[in-house]
Amino acid sequence: MDKKLFLQQLEALPIEGLDAAGLYREISALAVKHIAFSEKPKRCAHYLSIEFLIGRVFFNNLLELGVLREVKTLLRKKGVDLARLEEIEDAALGNGGLGRLAACYMDSGAACGFPLYGYGIRYRYGLFRQTFEDGFQREAPDDWQRFGDPWSIRREDEAQTIRFADMTVTAVPYDMPLIGKRVNTLRLYQAEGSAAAEAISGVLYPDDSTEEGRLLRIRQEYFLSAAAIGDMVRAYEARHGQDYRQFAKENTVQLNDTHPVFAIPELIRVLMERGVAYRAALKTAQAVFHYTNHTILPEALECWEKRLLQKILPSIAEILLKMNATQRQRHRKEGYTEAEIEAAGIYSRARDAFSMANTAVFSSGIVNGVAKLHSEIIRRDLFAAEAAHHPEKFFNVTNGIAQRRWLELANSELAELIDHKIGRAWRASPAALCELKPFVQDGETAAAFDAVKQKKKAQLFDYIVRTEGVRFTGEKLVYAQVKRLHEYKRQLMTAFALLRLYYDLKEGKLPDFAPSLFVFGAKAAPGYARAKAIIKYINEILKTINRDVSLGGALQGVFVTEYNVTYAEKIVAAADVSLQVSTAGLEASGTGNMKFMMNGAVTLGTMDGANIEIVEQAGMENNYIFGARVEEIEALRKGGYDPNAFLQANPAWKRVVETLRDGTFSDGGTGCFQELYTSLTAGASWHKPDHYFIFRDIEEYYQAILRVNRDFCDRARFTQKQLACVAASGFFSSDRSVSEYAEHIWHIRPKADKRK
Ligand SMILES: *Cc1c(COP(=O)(O)O)cnc(C)c1O
Repeated sequence: MDKKLFLQQLEALPIEGLDAAGLYREISALAVKHIAFSEKPKRCAHYLSIEFLIGRVFFNNLLELGVLREVKTLLRKKGVDLARLEEIEDAALGNGGLGRLAACYMDSGAACGFPLYGYGIRYRYGLFRQTFEDGFQREAPDDWQRFGDPWSIRREDEAQTIRFADMTVTAVPYDMPLIGKRVNTLRLYQAEGSAAAEAISGVLYPDDSTEEGRLLRIRQEYFLSAAAIGDMVRAYEARHGQDYRQFAKENTVQLNDTHPVFAIPELIRVLMERGVAYRAALKTAQAVFHYTNHTILPEALECWEKRLLQKILPSIAEILLKMNATQRQRHRKEGYTEAEIEAAGIYSRARDAFSMANTAVFSSGIVNGVAKLHSEIIRRDLFAAEAAHHPEKFFNVTNGIAQRRWLELANSELAELIDHKIGRAWRASPAALCELKPFVQDGETAAAFDAVKQKKKAQLFDYIVRTEGVRFTGEKLVYAQVKRLHEYKRQLMTAFALLRLYYDLKEGKLPDFAPSLFVFGAKAAPGYARAKAIIKYINEILKTINRDVSLGGALQGVFVTEYNVTYAEKIVAAADVSLQVSTAGLEASGTGNMKFMMNGAVTLGTMDGANIEIVEQAGMENNYIFGARVEEIEALRKGGYDPNAFLQANPAWKRVVETLRDGTFSDGGTGCFQELYTSLTAGASWHKPDHYFIFRDIEEYYQAILRVNRDFCDRARFTQKQLACVAASGFFSSDRSVSEYAEHIWHIRPKADKRK
C-alpha cells in the first residue's frame, strides 16, 4: 500500500456529515482500492472451515496496513471520531470458538507471511441476534450486510457451477483481504441461482432435526468443499494442464473439523473425472488433506445417512463406499482386529451412515487435536484403532489467538504499558512477552497495570449501561464466563455458585467479601431447550440479586445480550477472573481462556483443555484450579457417582438446587426449570443424572471463588498474579500455532510480499 497516497486521498474524501455506515463504507472502499493481493507461491496451504467468526475488520485492517493511528489523527482534524464506527456490527459468520479460531489463524497466516488461504461460506445471515424477553432468549436474523460489505470483492469471473442430483448452483466467490507481511485472501462463496440454491448460503447451521434440514446441511458442506476444490484444481491446471502428479506437492488442505470433509471424495471425484485412476486419486488425496478434530462429544461427531447422500450426491456416496472398501481391505492387511475395523470404518452398516471423522482420519496425512490433553484423548479413545496402527499420523497443535486483535486492539492501554516496559518487539514476536517477568514484582508496574484494568472496567461498564441499561456502582472484582451456552461448559454450575454466594452474603457468612460482578455472555443454539432454560435461570437469579439493595452492591451480575467478538474484546480486557469450568476432558482447548490470560485475568478453572497449558506457562500459584481431573471423571462415568447422595449430605447446596422447582424463580410456566432439575437428579433416556458432574466439583468451585475474592483484597499480591499471566501468555499467540502447522503439517515457509 502506498500510505502517503492513501492518506492524501482520504484527506480529500468528502466524508463530513456521513453517518457511521457511510463513513465505514467510504473509508473502507478507499483502503481496499489501495490493497494489492500477494502472488500465490507454488505451494499454498488452504484452510477450509464452515465458520469464520471474523468480527469487525475495519480497525484490524487499518492496524495491519500500518495506518490506524494516522487515519484517527486525520479524521479527528476533520471533526470525525472513528469511535462512531462502533455502531457497525460484527460479521458473525460463525458460532463460537471454532469459527473464531479460523479467523485468528487467517490473521496470523498473513501477519507471519505464510501463503495461507481461507475458504468458507458467505452466509446471507450470520449467527442469530440475541435479545432477552422476560429473561428468555429470543432470536432474530442477523442482517450483517445492511452496513454494506466494503472489504469484500465479488469475483464473478471466478464463479463455479456446483452440481447436485436435483439442482445446479452457482458459487460466486467474495474475497476479503487478509493483511500482514503478505496479503492473502479469505474466499467466501455465495450460492446463487434459484431460491433453493440461495438457501444453501442462507444461514449458518440450519436446524438439522428434520430430513429437509439435514439435506440442507449436506448441501452447504458439499457446496463449500466442491467450490474450494474446484478453485484449487483450476489454478493448478492453469500451471500444469492435465498432469496432476504435482497436485499434492503444491496444495495442502487443512480441514477445520469435519464439516468440509466432502472435499476428500470431491477431489477424488474430480481427478477421476479427468482420467486419473481411483488408486492414484486416493493417494493424492491422502497427501493433500489434514484434519483438525475439535470435539469428542458424540452428538457433535457428524454422520450422514447413506440414503441422503445417494439422493443428492450419488457419485460422492459411491466414492465413499469405494473408500470404505479400500480402507477395510488395508486395515485387514495391517492386522486391525474386527472391532478396530468397525470402529474406524468410513461406512457403518449398523447405522447405514458415513462417519465424517473416520473419513477424515483415513484420508489425512496428519490428524491433530487442539490442546495437549485433547490430543491425548483422541489418540486414546476417539481414534484409538487408527492411533494404535498409525501413531505417526497423530499430532498436537495447541490453539492460539491473534494478539493483534486480542491485545493490541482490544487493550491498547495495556499494549502501550507493555511497550513502555519492554519495547515493541513482542507485537511481532509475542514470545517476547516473557520479558515482562522481571517487572511482575515491580510496584510501579503493578500500579500502572492496575490503572489500566480500572480504565478497561470503566469502559466495559459504560458499554454495558448503553447496551443493556444496567448500571453498576463502586469498584468491582470482575468474574466473567462468556462462551457458547452448553451443558458441558457448566454455566449452570456458576449459576448455583452465584446463588449460594447470595444466600451466604445475606446470612452474613461472608463478612469480608470484596464487591463482585459476575458477567455472563452466551448464545444458546435455537433448538437446544436446556441451554435456553439455563439462560432463563441465570437471568432470574440475577434479577433477584441485582434488586436486593440490602447487599449494598457486594454482589451484582449481568447477562449481556448479543455476545459477539466486539463484546468479547471489551470483556476480556476488563475481567479479573476468567471462569473456565468445563467438565475435565470435554473442552477440547478453549480460546476464550487465552484471551483473558493475555489481558491479565487469572484463570479459575478445571484441569481441562488449554487451561492445563495455561497453568503450565503461568504457574499454578497464579491461577485457581479446582475439581476432578479427567481420570477421576472417567472413573465416575463408569459408576459410583450419585448426585442425589451429594444433595442429601449438603443441605446448603440442596437449598440452592431446589430453587429449580420450589417456586423461588419463575420459568414462565414452561416447566423448563423442572426439566433441568430432573436432568441433574434423575437423568434422561439418553444420559445418567448430572452427567457433567456439577456436584462433584461445585463445593471446590465455590471455595475457589471465595479464595480469589480473598486474594483480591491484597491488591499488590493479586496484581502480581495478573501480570504473571500476561508475561506467560506469549505461547498462546496464534502466530505460534500457525507456525507449528506450517512447519510440521503444511510444509510451507513464510513468503513475505515487499509490495504490500
Ligand atoms: C473466543 C470466542 C469464543 C470461544 O470461547 P471459549 O471460551 O473458548 O468457548 C466464542 N465466542 C466468541 C465471540 C469469542 O470471541
